[in-house]
Amino acid sequence: MSSVSSAAQSFRSSAHGSWDPERIRPDFPMLKRTVRGHPLVYLDNAATALKPQAVIDAVVEYYTHFSANVARGVHTTSQEATERYESVRVRAAGYLNVDSSEIVFTAGTTASLNLVASSFGSDALRPGDEILVSELEHHSNLVPWQLSAERTGALVRAIPMLDSGDLDLEWLERELSSRTKIVAVCHASNVLGTVVPIDRVSEMAHRVGAKVVVDGAQAAPHFSVDVRALDCDFYALSAHKLFGPTGLGVLFGKRALLERMSPWQGGGGMISSVEIARSSYAASPARFEAGTPAVAEVFGLGGALEYLATWDRLAATDHESALADAAIAGLESIPGVKVFGESASRVGVVAFALDGVHAHDVGTALDAGGVAVRAGHHCAQPLMRRLGVVATARASFAPYNTLRDVEALVAGVERARTLFGR
Ligand code: PMP
Repeated sequence: MSSVSSAAQSFRSSAHGSWDPERIRPDFPMLKRTVRGHPLVYLDNAATALKPQAVIDAVVEYYTHFSANVARGVHTTSQEATERYESVRVRAAGYLNVDSSEIVFTAGTTASLNLVASSFGSDALRPGDEILVSELEHHSNLVPWQLSAERTGALVRAIPMLDSGDLDLEWLERELSSRTKIVAVCHASNVLGTVVPIDRVSEMAHRVGAKVVVDGAQAAPHFSVDVRALDCDFYALSAHKLFGPTGLGVLFGKRALLERMSPWQGGGGMISSVEIARSSYAASPARFEAGTPAVAEVFGLGGALEYLATWDRLAATDHESALADAAIAGLESIPGVKVFGESASRVGVVAFALDGVHAHDVGTALDAGGVAVRAGHHCAQPLMRRLGVVATARASFAPYNTLRDVEALVAGVERARTLFGR
């Protein structure tokens, strides 16, 4: 048995239930295509997940039968579209175990975090206040806070990462103070896969009155998230990473906070009354949804959430972890390969480097065999610096991936090593 198979085998014996990726693969049309003469091995799920037919159908259904604007029309199709749009808000709220009045549709995680940093940040921050981010962060949970700090005179500081890839929570406990107004961290790292214990972060931050903003882009696709139990104040995710359409994000904010926050963008749909010199605003969430929203994409997200409800999420999560474990074992058996991060709590995201070969070359060599991985700094330059590299390759798993995919990855990296004479 290869090291890949044996690692997966030993994991499966401790798994929750069985998960057969072959059962869901026919639901994803992209998995039928070939790349450079090979069946597509899609291991770039952290960049964007593939879409099941249910999502494609829901988008087509909007354009075919409900193509009208929402929240404005008195005519039937507009009312029907609005009803469906709002029903997806309710479904998204159920998915995160929060109230639908606490769900704002945005253009994505990036837009959500900019909204919170700009609106809540400007309202809450004063010169000398601190925003704690972490060394694990994607640029979209870092740069918006820098912009907010520039506007308000606040300071951005980073919670350090331990060598394991976990956050140094003792540092956090020590450094939290009455100056800390915001703690902005990811739920799962898009590079190392580390899962951050948000419930503990919330508990610590709330003791000093700080608010917790969570970038959930890489967590929500991998396991079910109970935002109420995490007790964070804001939680952001992207529909396209959750098997849904691009251009749409879901932002949770605690109702008491959303109700007090200033609008982010002005325009149609977010007002109560408008005069030439001033306006009053609609209640949240409408206050934060200026302009025509991504209606077709919201329909698509509805399709994704409905489809996801048919999965045994615990079994799917276990399956992904088994694949990640198998990939780590297989990659580490190749001389010159280094796998980054060793947190005991991680999702199916595996960053690695081949000694002396640029990550882009590894990615290109894998693509020649139909294996799609991400290569680069993953929009996490401070983390790259902390790891002492400029870039890595990254394989990221979804429930439709198989052990065959892992074997193709490992074989492809072996080939790259030979090709580049390592
Ligand atoms: N945060 C994390 C952890 C991510 O991985 C990504 C996407 N790479 C984002 C934020 C940004 O998501 P989007 O591009 O959908 O706004």
